[in-house]
Amino acid sequence: MSEFDLIRTYFNRLGSPRADVSIDIGDDAAVVDVAADRQLVLAVDTMVAGVHFPVDTPADAIGYKALTVNLSDLAAMGAEPAWALLAITLPSADIDWIEAFCSGFHRLAAQFGLRCIGGDTTRGPLTISVTVAGTVPRGHALTRRGAKVGDAIYVTGNIGDAGLGLEAAFGRWSGPNSKSFLQRLYYPTPRVEMGRVLRDYASAAIDVSDGLLADLGHVLHASGVGARLELTAIPVSAEVLSHGGYDFALAAGDDYELCFTVPKAKQRAMENALAQNGLVAYRIGEITAAQGLKCIAGNGEIHQIKSIGYNHFA
Ligand code: ADP
Ligand code: MG
Repeated sequence: MSEFDLIRTYFNRLGSPRADVSIDIGDDAAVVDVAADRQLVLAVDTMVAGVHFPVDTPADAIGYKALTVNLSDLAAMGAEPAWALLAITLPSADIDWIEAFCSGFHRLAAQFGLRCIGGDTTRGPLTISVTVAGTVPRGHALTRRGAKVGDAIYVTGNIGDAGLGLEAAFGRWSGPNSKSFLQRLYYPTPRVEMGRVLRDYASAAIDVSDGLLADLGHVLHASGVGARLELTAIPVSAEVLSHGGYDFALAAGDDYELCFTVPKAKQRAMENALAQNGLVAYRIGEITAAQGLKCIAGNGEIHQIKSIGYNHFA
């Protein structure tokens, strides 16, 4: 199959058709309409085989996750996803692999009404780079830099589950629930609805891709504040705790939950708004004037943090 056959057969039918796409795949570039009262929100993430996922990861999961990691970035900005571009580098035209990859990508894209409107197809070591674009009402994007002293800190779900899934994938851990942790690694849920609701309440937000401490650290740095976390308030699976304790959970990446801050005066309204949408978040700490990040253990003592999280160039 040629590059053009691959595009025609597989890549030009990913996600849901949209009325705001005026030029789709097949021209030199795509053309879309953006409403005058909204702003474009753009993100790109690249996944390299052997770096971002084990080489034997199922193709369906790679397709799904290449999009999830980007949708998660849009979620953290409070944006509604609309379009994607898929740049894929393949070692060969393995049709079964490509079909499974597209099926994972398409399933998630269709779930959010997103359309893949272009991309690039090349040969080389397996690498997938997805660009997503979405929109927010003008001036309403969530950012990392709005956290204020006294704001409450929340996360949207378990921290460390995907990390334990990775341990399972590498054969370093197994248990009766291995499958569900692998599922959290391979098919993380992008918290898009959550981000949309939080737009009206959160002072800052980030998605947890490199580990809770590392990512919350970015919010603190950008906002010029510190934080205190109550370890026992952080949702962590019993399996994760017995495998590596809080140190493992706080440094583990790939969960794609949101971590966000909310001013005291808006907490009640925010929790009500989440409940109305069938969503939950867990309050795990507070923003402090004292710089740095302090973790308080169940016994009230300060927990010494061992490792911060993943850094490609560390
Ligand atoms: P050009 O040489 O002008 O860059 P290409 O041959 O790379 O054009 O692409 C032709 C069309 O197919 C373009 O609309 C491009 O966006 C689209 N396309 C190429 N690869 C992919 C892909 N992997 N997924 C989606 N669309 C793709
Ligand atoms: Mg091209």
